[in-house]
Order: sequence, then C-alpha cells, then structure tokens
Amino acid sequence: MPEGASPQETKGQPGIRQAALFGLCPQCGEKTLFASGIQFASRCRVCGLDYSRFNVGDGPAGFLTLIIGAVMVTLAIWLDVAASPPFWVHALLWVPLTIAAVVGGLRVSKAALLAAEYRNRAGEAVSTSSDDEDSDA
Ligand SMILES: [Zn+2]
Repeated sequence: MPEGASPQETKGQPGIRQAALFGLCPQCGEKTLFASGIQFASRCRVCGLDYSRFNVGDGPAGFLTLIIGAVMVTLAIWLDVAASPPFWVHALLWVPLTIAAVVGGLRVSKAALLAAEYRNRAGEAVSTSSDDEDSDA
C-alpha cells in the first residue's frame, strides 16, 4: 500500500518494517512491544495499546525455524567444503548463530504480524471498537 493511503497511517506511527525491526508500538512508535526476549508486553507502557488483543499466535515459528534450519545447514556444508574446520568449530559457530537467528527472526516476524494486524484493524475499529471477539472456537 502506498504511503498516505489513509490519514490514520501517517500520524507519527511507524511503518510495518520499522515496527518489526525495532519492536515498536504500532500506535505510538515507542519501543515497548516486547517485555523480554520474544514475549510481547501485555500493553504499551506509553500509550496503553492493549497488545493482548492481537492474536499473532505461533504461526510464524514453525515456518521460520524450517527456513533458518535450511539456511544454517547450507552454510555449514559450505563452510565444511570450503575450509573443512574441526567439528568443534561447527558446534561453536552454528548453535549460537541458529539460536540468534531464530530469536531475532521471531521477534521481527511477530512484530510485523502485530503491526500489520493493527493497521488492518485501525480502519474498522473506529466504529466497532466495543465488540468482543475473544471467543476462540
Ligand atoms: Zn504505544
């Protein structure tokens, strides 16, 4: 969607990419989205936006882990063929790299989903802000 598509999107709110990369609140742009690690805070400390309303779920986790696993195995094979280092180099290198990639990727993808959901709701939430949709089937 191009910039300025709706007036609500341009009032000091971060773009989805920014919000995803830095864990910004999609409403006020402060860095309050994550309480710790990959855990969302329950609400924004600055503007009070209730993050628990957004149901991001674990959708990206499995998908992301598969992609990162494929990338890491490819890199490990490439390194082994190119430099054939001893085994402990692989263990020292790929275990922390994989963990960092999964945690970082989860943060970014969860924040991106929440920001996208916030944007999609921003338009419709103006008139129907009080309906409860907590009933998960
Ligand atoms: Zn906020």
